[in-house]
Amino acid sequence: MEYVKSKIRDVIDFPQKGIVFKDLTTAFKDSRALRTIGSELSQIYCDKGITKVVGIESRGFIGGSILASKLDAGFVPVRKPGKLPADTISASYDKEYGKDTIEIHRDAITQDDIVVIHDDVLATGGTMAAACELVKSLNPKKIYVNFIVELEFLNGRNALPVDVEVTSLIKY
Ligand code: AMP
Repeated sequence: MEYVKSKIRDVIDFPQKGIVFKDLTTAFKDSRALRTIGSELSQIYCDKGITKVVGIESRGFIGGSILASKLDAGFVPVRKPGKLPADTISASYDKEYGKDTIEIHRDAITQDDIVVIHDDVLATGGTMAAACELVKSLNPKKIYVNFIVELEFLNGRNALPVDVEVTSLIKY
């Protein structure tokens, strides 16, 4: 993972002053880094019986779809309000910079599913906590949570439900 880490770009004061933005586009555009992310993720989850990977808009769609394809699981998007066309449920939350709402299709997850929810970066944990709330309300058998990058100094794990197993590939 050191190679992947070396390909992540820090963007200072984006999207606002005081934020050091972990830009993963520089890792995603590198074939070796992208392949490594995919294989590390699938190694963690290949024996968990995952049936659905939920990716959070928009950067969670990239690793999430790669993981779903490798696990032979389905992919489910969690999106910003008004983007999903059919019947949705929604949750609101605070994030490192600002407030937001996310939605998922009501029929995206069933009680037979074993789910991993994926996003690129864990910051304060608000986004993932809201995603966990959405997925939990659809009653899957089990929920796992994964990030490529975890900003440990923000203690985002504390915002997540205690009964979900959390993994991250790279910690700062
Ligand atoms: P949070 O809800 O605070 O955990 O924020 C997580 C979401 O915001 C993820 O979807 C990230 O893509 C994005 N995000 C928040 N802070 C950062 C950061 N410092 N660098 C990169 N992405 C971030």
